[in-house]
Amino acid sequence: MNTLIEVRDLSKTFTLHPQNGVVLRVLRGLNFSVREGECLVLQGQSGAGKSTLLRTLYGNYLPAGGSIRIQHQGQWLELVGAEPRQVLAVRQQTLGYVSQFLRVIPRVSTLDVVMEPALARGVQRADAVARAEHLLARLNIPQRLWQLAPGTFSGGEQQRVNIARGFMVPWPLMLLDEPTASLDDGNRQVVLALINEAKAAGAAVIGIFHDRQARETVGDRHLDMTPAQLTAKELLEC
Ligand code: ADP
Ligand code: MG
Repeated sequence: MNTLIEVRDLSKTFTLHPQNGVVLRVLRGLNFSVREGECLVLQGQSGAGKSTLLRTLYGNYLPAGGSIRIQHQGQWLELVGAEPRQVLAVRQQTLGYVSQFLRVIPRVSTLDVVMEPALARGVQRADAVARAEHLLARLNIPQRLWQLAPGTFSGGEQQRVNIARGFMVPWPLMLLDEPTASLDDGNRQVVLALINEAKAAGAAVIGIFHDRQARETVGDRHLDMTPAQLTAKELLEC
């Protein structure tokens, strides 16, 4: 099976300027790779840096050091320091990200929010509508809501719209930040089925799942992100 992402010696710090420039070392020297059809589960307590790792892989944060190489259109591409237009192409074709919360745009209907990744790839509108309707129905979003903007939806409904959008097109690589949190059991099973279908189609998945059943249903390996003990030098720097 092909390796689709390779991360070497990745670190990320946050400098808190309003607090005397205190430096938080959130990720330190991470190494891992994920293959086609495999799901790597990020494990560690709240605050361990799991969401920060996904945002760094997606290019929202610049790492302090290290390398993120991904397979993009048949070639290895280094994402750290990549040109913005390359990052945009990667986000359109290769790397999908289901964030913890839906980013709501006023007045844009649920159907349009869900279809957007397909339209951005040039899929015909009728095909995109059919796929979006199929996903919304599967995720139990009532049909009367499809033409409404999701801004006023419940938390769980917004999360399911976000998941429908995330699974609208096939992604070689998927980043999932707690996609099953705050869902009832029936909808959680639908999401786990969608993840397993994506894996079967060859996707490499990196995910955060707070419930054990989800980890056991979709996970193949885990990455332990328990924060390392601070060294004496770092304690002095604090
Ligand atoms: P997890 O997802 O594992 O619960 P996070 O990645 O959200 O953890 O956060 C890891 C640590 O980084 C926390 O201590 C958090 O306060 C800090 N952190 C996250 N994002 C920022 C940010 N934008 N600025 C400063 N500190 C941050
Ligand atoms: Mg998190």
